[in-house]
Parts: sequence; structure tokens; C-alpha cells
Amino acid sequence: MDKFVMIIFGASGDLTKRKLMPALYSLYKDKRLKGDFFIIGVGRTVYTDTDYRAYIYSELEKFVKPEDQDKEWMDAFTQHLYYLPIDPAVEAGYVRLRERLEELTGEKEPDNLLFYLATPPSLYGVIPLHIKKAHLNRGHARIIVEKPFGYDLESARELNRIYASVFGEHQIYRIDHFLGKETAQNILAFRFANGIFEPLWNRNYIDYIEITAVENLGIEDRGGFYDSTGALRDMVQNHLIQLVALTAMEPPAVFNADTFRDEVVKVYESLTPLKEVDFEEHIVRGQYTASGNKKGYREEKNVSPESRTETYIAMKLGISNWRWSGVPFYIRTGKQMPTKVTEIVVHFRETPHQMFHCEGGHCPRANKLILRLQPNEGIVLKIGMKVPGAGFEVKQVTMEFSYNQLGGVPIGDAYARLIDDCIQGDPTLFTRSDAVDASWRFFDPVLRYWKDHPDAPLYGYPAGTWGPLESEAMMHEHGAEWTNPCKN
Ligand code: NAP
Repeated sequence: MDKFVMIIFGASGDLTKRKLMPALYSLYKDKRLKGDFFIIGVGRTVYTDTDYRAYIYSELEKFVKPEDQDKEWMDAFTQHLYYLPIDPAVEAGYVRLRERLEELTGEKEPDNLLFYLATPPSLYGVIPLHIKKAHLNRGHARIIVEKPFGYDLESARELNRIYASVFGEHQIYRIDHFLGKETAQNILAFRFANGIFEPLWNRNYIDYIEITAVENLGIEDRGGFYDSTGALRDMVQNHLIQLVALTAMEPPAVFNADTFRDEVVKVYESLTPLKEVDFEEHIVRGQYTASGNKKGYREEKNVSPESRTETYIAMKLGISNWRWSGVPFYIRTGKQMPTKVTEIVVHFRETPHQMFHCEGGHCPRANKLILRLQPNEGIVLKIGMKVPGAGFEVKQVTMEFSYNQLGGVPIGDAYARLIDDCIQGDPTLFTRSDAVDASWRFFDPVLRYWKDHPDAPLYGYPAGTWGPLESEAMMHEHGAEWTNPCKN
């Protein structure tokens, strides 16, 4: 096997220290990364190899769980790190990169290369072109590119064109770490490894579906990035829509990268196109305002005091196909919510007739299935049971699966899983170019509508609350309401 080299662009940045290096360290410790391999960090910040190793070692001490820190392993791992201080935007540096690759591997034309783009997105279109000019896209070369892949439909298409001119689609790994989460993958196992739910998984038995991915933090020190991005680009166009696809897709006949991703694209292409009425009635944008000791969004560092960037968005989506016609998918994401949670709630239809008279009023007539991705990962089914004693009082109780039942196997890190998949050449959990295109085709009109209608509603919500009341109202026409999980 050729010597393997991973080249990280943006190696002095936040993602590298917080996610990539801990993931690579865990792969090394699990002996998934072994033999002759080199990791070269690239960036404008100047480090020697020795300085860079010391810097990463100290970051591992912060970002690897204490129980996984092992000084010998950390030391051995960092010996595989190298650093090249070049500006990745400038062509000249790639000659030095090439020389460094030849020197480290001792090969004339090293071609087992994995490029990781962890730079600001403005460099995503530039770096592959320099890689091509330096003839580094040969052989087994692969590239992982971070989100956001594109800023709108046009820029995503332009990026797809650039990548296709440098690499084959099988060499391009557009990463979305949501799909690396065990709990996201378990949606597929839950649906397709069990016969019990699949017959119910359609418009005949499901009333509506909610997908929530919210955080209790603000934008922290990412004001500059966030103010030009917003929740739709940051969360909805990639993460939330992936969860919609996992929930709504058809089972592929065999499970592999092509069949799985074909089904994802079919969901995106079946999304009911948004009409004029949807932009104001079925999409609710919000922005958090100051509350208690929490700052409002417009007071955050590097955010314009007149900013109209959304920190919250709720949408009603439809899927126009045989299985889902008429079933609304309500999705939402927000910053400064009461808790951090990602979950999918499937609301089954009510029983056709209520024969029990519950003491105290309302009897729960509908079952709910909650697929919780984080925290307290697990699956909960809400069912009605009789309270012991006289009469027939029915109360909603829960049947629960928690990950502890899988023998205490720790839940792996999403980045480690995805980097490992890429090294093994398995693109299943990465986004294909046609999925990027289909997703942007659907969401681009929303961005255009907001641009063309600067007065389109943007509702304030006090930091620490569940978002604008208008997002509740959006669901009332269906007799639905959000399931707001308690604080965890
Ligand atoms: P970052 O810290 O802002 O930037 C990474 C590195 O890129 C910087 O250390 C800097 O290194 C280099 N860089 C910055 N501006 C540059 C420029 N104009 N020209 C050349 N190099 C430049 O970003 P990050 O938070 O690590 O994120 C990297 C990418 O991953 C982003 O696209 C982000 O959207 C994505 N992402 C990040 C996270 C996260 O948790 N941080 C999560 C998901 C996705 P030098 O100054 O040394 O060149």
C-alpha cells in the first residue's frame, strides 16, 4: 500500500483543533490509522513541525475526553504531524507542498492523498484548482470539503463545476457531520431492520412529523460568519433536510453508497415546491432579543445592529409522493432556545373513536414516536395505558430504548466515523453533487424572497424561549403543536 498522507488546509483553525485532531487521534488509538501515514497541516500561521505537534498536543488535552487521553498514544500520534506554512490561496505554495509530499513519502508521485478543506468557504473553489495545477489530484486522491457547500444555488453549482473539473465524483466527499452520528444512522436501522413500523410509516397512519435541532447557546464568537449566513444556510439546507430524507426515504433494495444516495435525492426532488403563500405563512423567521442576562443577537460582537439575519427558522414542508402526500413535515432550528436538542417526533393518527372517559379531561388518543439524536440519545414510544384502580383512566406512558442497552458500547464521534469512511473509500454518508443541487433548488427561492422583500416578517423572540409565537400559529391549521422537550 502507498504511503497515506492527509493534508489539512486551515490547520491552525477552530475545526481542526476541536474536531479533526481529536477524531484522528481516536482513529489512531483504535488502530484504524496505522502504518506509514503523515498528516500535514497547511496554513498561513507559521509553525515548525515541532511547534505544531506541541500545539496540537495541548489542544488534545482540551478536546479529547479525559478518559480517552493517554499520554503515550498522544505523543505517538503527534509524531505523525507535520506543518507547512503557506497561503492556500496562492499557487506558489503548492510547489512547496508537492516537494514536502515527495520528501516525506520518498515517492516521486505520491498519490494516496486525502485533502481536507477546513478553511473559510471562500477558499473552497480556489484550493482544488491549485491542487489540479500542481498535479496532486492523481491516483487515489480524495477531497473532503466542509459545509457550507455553496451560499445559494448559483454558487453551489459553480463549486460543483469546479470540483467535477478536478476530481471524479467518487473522489469528492462533501461532509455533513450529522450523518456521521450513530443516532442519525440508527433511523435507517430502526426503519429498515424492523418490520413493525414500516407498514405504518406513511400517510395512512402518520398525521405529521416534527424535526427539531435547537441550541441553548447564541452565536458565541462567530458573529462575522453567522451574520452573513443565518439559520437557513447554516442548519436547514444541509442538516435538517438530511434528517427529513432519513425519515421520509424509501428503502433501497440493497444498501450501498449509490442506492442510499439515490433515495435521498428522490426525497429532495419530491419536496413540494414553495408557493408565494408559503413564504409568509409556512416559514417563520426569528431573531433572538435580549432577555435577563442574555444579549440580543444585534448586540453580539461582529453583528450589525440592524441585522436581519435569522437565528431561528421554522418551516412547513410537504413531500409530494405516494407515501407522504398530505403529511406536513414541520422543521425548526434556532439559537438561544431553552435547551439543546435534536429530535424527530412522529405523530401517529388518533384512534378513530374514544371510548374511555379520563378523569380530569383529555385522554391521549395519538401515539408519538420520538427519535432523539441528542442528548439522551434513544427512542421513545408514547402509548396510552390504564391507570390501576377503578374506572378506566388512561394515561400516556413511555416505552424507551436507550443506547445503554447496546452493551455500553460508547457512541463514536461523527468526525472519526466519517474520516474513517473516506479513508476506506466509502462515500455513503457524504452528500453527492445532485443532492446539493436538489436541496439548493428547493431552498434558493426562500433566500431570494427574503432578498426581494426586505420587509418580510422577522419576529423577535426573547433569548431562552422556544422562538416566535408565530411558529406555533403556523401549526394550528393542522391542529398540531410543537413538542417542546424539557430542559436536560
Ligand atoms: P476558522 O478557524 O475561521 O479558519 C480556519 C483557518 O483558515 C484559520 O485558522 C486560518 O488559518 C485559515 N484562513 C482564514 N481566513 C483565511 C483566508 N482569507 N485565506 C487563507 N486562509 C484563511 O474556521 P473553522 O471554524 O476552523 O472552520 C473551518 C470550516 O469548517 C468553515 O468553512 C466552517 O464553516 C466549517 N465548519 C466548522 C465547524 C466548527 O466547529 N468550527 C463546524 C462545522 C463546519 P491561517 O491564518 O493559519 O491561514
